[in-house]
Amino acid sequence: MANQTRPDYARAAGWDRDWEVFSDYELPTYVGPTTFSNLPWVTDPAEIARRGVDVAIVGAPFDDATSHRPGARFGPRAIREAQSASGALNSLQLGVEPLGVLTVVDAGDANVVPSWMERGHALIHRKVREVAATGAIPIVLGGDHSITWPSASAVAEVRHPGTIGIVHFDAHADTAPDIFGVLGSHGTPMRRLVESGAVAGRNFVQVGLRGYWPPPDVFDWMRGQGMRWHLMREIEERGAEAVIDDAIAEALDGPDSVYLSIDIDVIDPGMAPGTGTPEPGGMLTREVLRAIRRIVGAVDLAGMDVVEVSPPYDHAEVTAGAANRCVLEAISALAVKRAAGGRVRHEPA
Ligand code: MN
Ligand code: MN
Repeated sequence: MANQTRPDYARAAGWDRDWEVFSDYELPTYVGPTTFSNLPWVTDPAEIARRGVDVAIVGAPFDDATSHRPGARFGPRAIREAQSASGALNSLQLGVEPLGVLTVVDAGDANVVPSWMERGHALIHRKVREVAATGAIPIVLGGDHSITWPSASAVAEVRHPGTIGIVHFDAHADTAPDIFGVLGSHGTPMRRLVESGAVAGRNFVQVGLRGYWPPPDVFDWMRGQGMRWHLMREIEERGAEAVIDDAIAEALDGPDSVYLSIDIDVIDPGMAPGTGTPEPGGMLTREVLRAIRRIVGAVDLAGMDVVEVSPPYDHAEVTAGAANRCVLEAISALAVKRAAGGRVRHEPA
């Protein structure tokens, strides 16, 4: 019919107004693609270098090396999602808008496929190395703790001839010679890093060890390497603040820069149940977050990982939330450094 006009239901309903449209970054984090804090997904190292990125998030969705509960392969995505605020964010603890001060991107995931441990470690190493070589600080989302072997090795290579130390939060020392004969297990990465020379034993500081593993001969080996550690028992007796004071002094005593490795099981399983090897009697979430702010504020951070978040065991997403904040606290502490005129990026030689 010639006189029949096309219906305008939008106008009839009042939908034809000039609505404000938000950017991908400003939108709620549950809208659109899943990147860390809605940050740009930039996987090309040349583009990461061109943007002068300060911090690059890297996913290591790998759990083929777990000894008990699996599921950490789903960790990177869960950690990326565990944030209800969007945009520049405002750290109330540090008084800084970290994502406004620093250039941060999500560099995507290592090219991992299931059931192939050697290839997974190789491609995690490759990914972290190409990101770190741009001068950006890689913050790696695990994955089981075995990923620290390739990840910290890559950072050590990029920082060479400078040396890196490791500050390692964990219920477990992860220094076994092998687990059931497997060298690349998540119970062995710190042993591999010392043996390869990537990190000198005397530049290793561990915090939060407790429970019933590893056996005494492993501690004998650690002692022989000059490793330093702070048992949970010491935190109970002296308090986290005093123990972290000592850990910072030890971290500064030797290496040129520090790689921070956070096994989320350092937090008490009552506050972080979603992990592969839960060990009762751990640190409070707030103690760990404060420790990260203090350590990153004090040392030259070369790289970081947050590992062992297993979403299938994580009711109410509390563990992923804690891990997300571990990352944000580090970024915020770096932003404070930058705002004060300090150096954050590494300028490769
Ligand atoms: Mn561990
Ligand atoms: Mn552990």
